[in-house]
Amino acid sequence: PLPRDLYGEARPNSHGPDLSDPLVVAELGIELADRAAEPAEATADVPGENDRRPVTDPGDSRRVIGYVRDADGAAVEAALQTAAAAAPDWNARGGAARAALLRAAADRLEAERAGLMALIVSEGGRTLPDALAEVREAIDFCRYYAVQAERHFAVPRLLPGPTGESNELALQGRGVFACISPWNFPLAIFTGQVAAALAAGNTVVAKPAEQTPLTAARAVRLFRAAGIPEAVLQLLPGDGAVGESLVNDPRIDGVAFTGSIETACAINRALARRDGPIIPLVAETGGVNAMIADSSALAEQVVRDVTRSAFNSAGQRCSALRVLFVQEAIAPRLLELLAGAMRELSIGDPALLATDVGPVIDASARQMLEQHAARMRNEARVIQELALPEDLDDGHFFAPCAYEIERLDQLPGEVFGPILHVIRYRADQLGSVIDAINNSGYGLTLGIHSRVEETAAYIRNRARVGNLYVNRDMIGSVVGVQPFGGERLSGTGFKAGGPNYLLRFAVERTFTVNT
Ligand code: GLU
Repeated sequence: PLPRDLYGEARPNSHGPDLSDPLVVAELGIELADRAAEPAEATADVPGENDRRPVTDPGDSRRVIGYVRDADGAAVEAALQTAAAAAPDWNARGGAARAALLRAAADRLEAERAGLMALIVSEGGRTLPDALAEVREAIDFCRYYAVQAERHFAVPRLLPGPTGESNELALQGRGVFACISPWNFPLAIFTGQVAAALAAGNTVVAKPAEQTPLTAARAVRLFRAAGIPEAVLQLLPGDGAVGESLVNDPRIDGVAFTGSIETACAINRALARRDGPIIPLVAETGGVNAMIADSSALAEQVVRDVTRSAFNSAGQRCSALRVLFVQEAIAPRLLELLAGAMRELSIGDPALLATDVGPVIDASARQMLEQHAARMRNEARVIQELALPEDLDDGHFFAPCAYEIERLDQLPGEVFGPILHVIRYRADQLGSVIDAINNSGYGLTLGIHSRVEETAAYIRNRARVGNLYVNRDMIGSVVGVQPFGGERLSGTGFKAGGPNYLLRFAVERTFTVNT
């Protein structure tokens, strides 16, 4: 059945774009032409003194796709002052007015779908289906949080007044939110954070990943064209130093961060040390995500879902599968099928519809993966190592591979890219498999492939993870349908695209009037 209650209308589950839709394909035509368009620009509203730096295509690092002028100290200062001054009015507009603006922004994103996809492919190295799904997700975030703003931020909740007083409880914006977003979903996660913070009544200073400022700048232009005032949403492109100066500033009233656990911990420490109010950190990091396939699983289905979960988006999703636990009885056949399925993956230009695996984001990502693969070649059994096609030397490509290891603690933590690890287990070891997954300290996604309901229930009752998927792949959570986010090292909650997310961006105020 179609999920009906999200926007008050039925819509298909947006799990993957429909490339058989002629409209979509027509847009892809525009998209490919767009890819050769003029270089894009990204800059803070107060440009500052920094020189422009080129932004290059991960699929062809000789190709400059645009320029960014990173924010310097003066730009950060100006943005913070403006955002703080604009916060009271923005909050006072109320949830319904903000919802209308977010819906207008969603319409702009929809209308600009082709151009946005072009940027996501060129700047983020994402494949066309990923880019299309990402634009859809960004739109979903705006519309979903608009509904939440109307539901929870428009009218205060009336409370009992037993002594004749009137009592109201209202959710309100906290003030200025710093939104610090990653390169792996340069549009969707950027938009999701910003839309949530705005919906709840905060003004926003947004610091997109250093690698993907152009997509963020385009999104900000669309938000403004939709009527969101400049002072309410400001872009501060730059590296970690910009993020650091934001989180250390006492004028910041909350931080939304998606990225590595190391940076999340550094932000957490900085917030604890700084002078100023105690503020929330909404963090979403990664995971050492596992899938468990028992002997009752359908091998072909497991292989299809493993391949998608581990190698789609070049494994650069925080939800991606890193470790497959496979029951010994089915391991030989399953691993043979897996090696074969991997041979079918086509690696290359993400702008081609036939491409399954595009580039990784940059040279250092590729180097980290090469080092890990070299270590695995020594310590593990090679299941599959694909060779790169010949003409890809100018891009940051890394071919998918799979290694069989003995124990989960052989891994250094999350390895962010298209490398799958496989561990065999016996039926009587299922309990210790779950313990090992829990002991990794992360808790983001987990997959189960089993046709035995008791097994799925047993795992479900013990696994400490945020998103658990049974008999399917484990990526591509849908806004409002699979609220997304982990626990412990994987994140703070509440879940993005879920009914409680906006609460982390808000304060509660009680109004009591003696009538
Ligand atoms: N929500 C995305 C998914 O389910 C992952 C988001 C991320 O990588 O941060 O695949």
